Amino acid sequence: MALIESIISFLILLFISNFIHKQIPEEQKILRKLHRKSSLVISLIVFGIIFGIRALLETLGSFFSLFLIINNDALMFAIMATLFYFLYKELVFKQETFGTIRKELFSGPFLKIFRLFFIICWIIAGIFLSISLLRIRMNNPDIFNLGFIWATLAILFDMIITIIINTTRPIEKRIPKEILKYSMFTGGLISFGIWSIQLIIFELYLNRLLGLMLFEQDIRILFGVISAIYGSIVYVALKKIFLPAAEEKSQLKVQKATEIVKEESVQDFTLGGNHAILDVKDLTTYFYTEEGTVRAVEGVSFKVYEGEVLGLVGETGCGKSVTALSILRVIRPPGKIEKGNVIFRGENLLIKPESEMLKYRGKDITMIFQDPLNSLNPVFRIGKQISEVFLLHMENEMLAEASKFPDKTIYGVAREWSIDLLRELNIPFPQVIIDRYPHELSGGMRQRVQIAIALACRPKLLIADEPTTALDVTIQNQILKLMKELGKKYNTTILFITHDLGIISKMCNRVAVMYCGSIVEYGDIKKLFTKPYHPYTRGLIASVPVMRERQQELEVIPGMVPNLIYPPLGCRFHPRCRYCFEPCDSKAPIQIEIESGYFVACHLYDPEYESLAKISIKKIEDISEKLEVINDHG
Ligand code: SF4
Repeated sequence: MALIESIISFLILLFISNFIHKQIPEEQKILRKLHRKSSLVISLIVFGIIFGIRALLETLGSFFSLFLIINNDALMFAIMATLFYFLYKELVFKQETFGTIRKELFSGPFLKIFRLFFIICWIIAGIFLSISLLRIRMNNPDIFNLGFIWATLAILFDMIITIIINTTRPIEKRIPKEILKYSMFTGGLISFGIWSIQLIIFELYLNRLLGLMLFEQDIRILFGVISAIYGSIVYVALKKIFLPAAEEKSQLKVQKATEIVKEESVQDFTLGGNHAILDVKDLTTYFYTEEGTVRAVEGVSFKVYEGEVLGLVGETGCGKSVTALSILRVIRPPGKIEKGNVIFRGENLLIKPESEMLKYRGKDITMIFQDPLNSLNPVFRIGKQISEVFLLHMENEMLAEASKFPDKTIYGVAREWSIDLLRELNIPFPQVIIDRYPHELSGGMRQRVQIAIALACRPKLLIADEPTTALDVTIQNQILKLMKELGKKYNTTILFITHDLGIISKMCNRVAVMYCGSIVEYGDIKKLFTKPYHPYTRGLIASVPVMRERQQELEVIPGMVPNLIYPPLGCRFHPRCRYCFEPCDSKAPIQIEIESGYFVACHLYDPEYESLAKISIKKIEDISEKLEVINDHG
């Protein structure tokens, strides 16, 4: 019987806990996974304890009628709910992720609602228990029954007195409401326990078993005295030990957070200047598929300088996105980063443990993806998704901010900052939009939200992977303008990935052209557009239609992008290159610095093949001349 009842209570508790969790606002909930795991584990622990107590009480009940009274269903459920609450609070707080925001959870709505719930349980339990006790009292009026009722009254008395004392004190000396409520409740329970034990000792052992009567006079005098002593002890303990310790702890935490925030801002200031924020060296990423090894990125090297916008341009499938994902180390199997170095602010990201990488992603380096509908989580509101970034990466900043206002929590700060961010991104009615789901927004708005998430922590490097491809041309322009402005405002360096040379010309300071997993040309944007060196870059630029320029036919690059499982030997562009000459199909070209800071990977500019290259260029020029003559006559 005890087992069935305990299981039912366990299921009810689990259901109620989930129900309560669903009712609270999204941005104030704790992680669903953590909540589920904790609820289940704690419910199981509580179930075990309650089942044990019930089984014990039922066994003892056959000897003493008292234990049958205690074994009351409503009382058991109330104990279960209380145990659940305290265990939940303790165990969830001990989780590493939430360890540092204990204070917030303590006053969080989930626990508030749960506390209310188990108080109601206790009231119901009290009513049921009183009925049982009064019934016995009518048949057998003894000290024992009276004692239970008196104990309950004494607890209430203690609580009322504490509240009165606290409210009559000057406001600056009052015990904070949360601490007071918590202590009163704990005190109440302890008091109840003391009374119960005392009654059992007097009544069962001394009076009933040994026939001794210690108090022949009115027992209420004793209750009154003990109650007063207990009340004084609780009050003094609260005032002298608990309150100063709690206040000191919370002040220390805020102080530490403020110091960290100050230190970080000083560091940011000292790191200014024109230095390479990202230095990618010989990055190589392969995908091991059933068809064969896809050599998606091979020997990619480039630098991104602080404050600049570097464009990464190339045809679809040339390895731009894989390069970006490799920088963030989010390549999934069967993909693998084979070799190389990704030096970000002096640290090689490729040798960092995964736990450290989590600190970089979303804070120092962020990414905007092509399709916001796929990258935003459809089941969470916008506010929750932006706030999550703050909660994960800017806890110290939020604590420092929250400490400036008496009634502000870090959740409140996260929401406020999210609204401000949306406002900065020109989203109308940010207070309303923050509570919307991604599917309720237009494409442009969703992309702005993605930018908001990416810029939330003022990242040092923003990787934008074709962020405007899925948008209309008019919205494209707005988004590009916004990104440029915000990049400047937050001093964020941008690695802009696109296949659109037009966007590159609007956005970037420098550009790297990728072909078949390698960078073929890389340097200043003006030089690249006015005097491209690599035959592939020339082909790309010549294939872009130019406004107000009459051209009979746009140039095309002959051939197809090769399959990266079987890339061509030597220069990967050689099957499509007009200038292809002797070493091109056997030897891969290396990056040559043609002008200061301008690199090209082509044998045409390699001093080793200078004479052969001249012959090849001459040949192509002759053919071009002949073609022009034919066209003129034709
Ligand atoms: Fe063309 Fe040779 Fe230069 Fe490759 S290395 S682009 S094949 S000329």
